[in-house]
Order: sequence, then structure tokens, then C-alpha cells
Amino acid sequence: MADTALVVSAHSADFVWRAGGAIALHAARGWQVTVLCLSYGERGESAKLWRQPGMTLERVKAEREKEARAAAAVLGVHDIQFWDLGDYPIALSRDSLFRLVDVFRAVQPRFVLTHSKEDPYNHDHPAVTDFTQNARITAQAHGHNPGQTVLGAPPVYLFEPHQPEQCNWRPDMLLDITPVWERKRAAIECMAGQEHLWEYYTRVALQRGAQAARNSEKPVKWGEGFQSVFPHVVETLGLSRHRPYLPMHRCDRRAKKWPSHRPGVPAPHRRRQAACIPRAKPPYPGPRAWVAQLVRARHS
Ligand SMILES: [Zn+2]
Repeated sequence: MADTALVVSAHSADFVWRAGGAIALHAARGWQVTVLCLSYGERGESAKLWRQPGMTLERVKAEREKEARAAAAVLGVHDIQFWDLGDYPIALSRDSLFRLVDVFRAVQPRFVLTHSKEDPYNHDHPAVTDFTQNARITAQAHGHNPGQTVLGAPPVYLFEPHQPEQCNWRPDMLLDITPVWERKRAAIECMAGQEHLWEYYTRVALQRGAQAARNSEKPVKWGEGFQSVFPHVVETLGLSRHRPYLPMHRCDRRAKKWPSHRPGVPAPHRRRQAACIPRAKPPYPGPRAWVAQLVRARHS
């Protein structure tokens, strides 16, 4: 059974800017990532579309869904759902909460990504964070729909808001997304309605990458930051000089097979694994060609 992850996005583009790298990275490693877009962001995050003459709410929603589906295909999303709960403000009912509880129990995610707890610029984002946390807790409750498999304790990571300082968001985890950066950029370019954000989030990824390199001594170029809600449960407080990349149980097994495993040098299987993550080759063909390529590959 594949590992799974759940991303709860208030609007249909949020998951791309803030978690596209994490999604692509895990998808490339065989994880099944489910993305829920609770609304299209049709009123508050589609200014460019509204400037077109004769635009209607339904057309904006259709455009937003098309963009998000294309981005999800580029990132390798397993399942993307659009709940159309409205935006500015989003309407989060009790029925929607139980619907999200059902998703938690069906997907059984190994981790959850959602928005920051605060955002003075956007009420929908923290409302969705609170809603997601509430659903997670309900999914853990044995008394809710007894007989279903209850949820374990998946960690919840809050992805980066647009202005972190104003949102009291502080990253305590930096993810190296260098191997999948081209994919994230391609997904970003699918969001034609918010072209003004493309370069902004490219700069954010570079900044987080530089900080990841500074904090790890690894050659990280592109990164994503996350803030944990719960304490990390770990088995070691530092990576071993002799076994720098692997969790202890796997490493013990591999070390027997490759006793010459040198400090700082990935074991042969790790090199193979790294090679498994497909990269776009420059010159990059552009998002449309990329999606067409993916569709062709899926049907061949
Ligand atoms: Zn949003």
C-alpha cells in the first residue's frame, strides 16, 4: 500500500505556490498525494480573470479549475477535489467538516499540509487551518462513526503564507525541493490568472533553498518552508557522520551489504533512488508541452 499525504488548500492555487515542491517530491517517490481545493478563489484571488469583459462567476470557476488541474497533473497529484465552498468568505459548515473527516479516514495520510494559523490579509486561510485541525481531531475520535478505522497521528505542517512576518509564521522545517524545482515552476506557470505571483514564489523558493543550505551544509538550491503544529518524534537527535541519509533500521540493513559505506558518500542504493526522481531537461518545454507529455505517457 502506497504512502499517502493530504493537502488542504483554501483556494485552488494555494497548494501550488506553497506546497508544490513537497507534493512533487513525494509523488516522484511513489506517494499518493490528495489535494482538496475547498474553493476556487473565484471572488478574491482571480483579479486578472475579472478584468476580461463579460466575465461571470461560473467562467472564473471553470478557468480556475482548469489551471489547478493542469498544475496538479504536472506535480503528480494522485487525486484533486474541488468542493466549491465559496470564498471571501469561505463557508465551512458542519456537513463539510464531516466530509473532511471522511477524507481523513479514507486517505489515512502520513502527513497533512495546510495554511498558517494567522493571516490578517486573508480570513479564508486561517479558517481552513482551524477547520482542518478540527476534522483531524474528529477523525481520531473513536466515538465518531464507530466501526471505521480511526485516524492515527499524522503530523500537520503549515505551509508558507504570503507575508510570513504578519502571520506569525516561522518555519521550523526546510524541505529541499531542488530535484523537483522544474516541476514546481511548471505548475506555477499553469496559474495564468495570477501571473504576478510567479516570480515572487520563485524568489521565495530560492531564499528557502539558501537557508536550507546554510542549516544543513548540503548543496540545496530550491526549498520550501513549513511550520510544525506538533512536536517531531525522532529516533536520533543528529544525522550520523557514517550514515548521513538513512533512518537507522534501513541503514543497519544496508550497512551490512556495503560495509565500505564512507562518511558523507551516499550508499549505492541511495544514489539509485536519487536518480529515480525525473528531472526536466533544459531547455524546458513549457507547462503545456509538459502536461501533454504526461498525458501521452499515461495513455501509452
Ligand atoms: Zn488563498
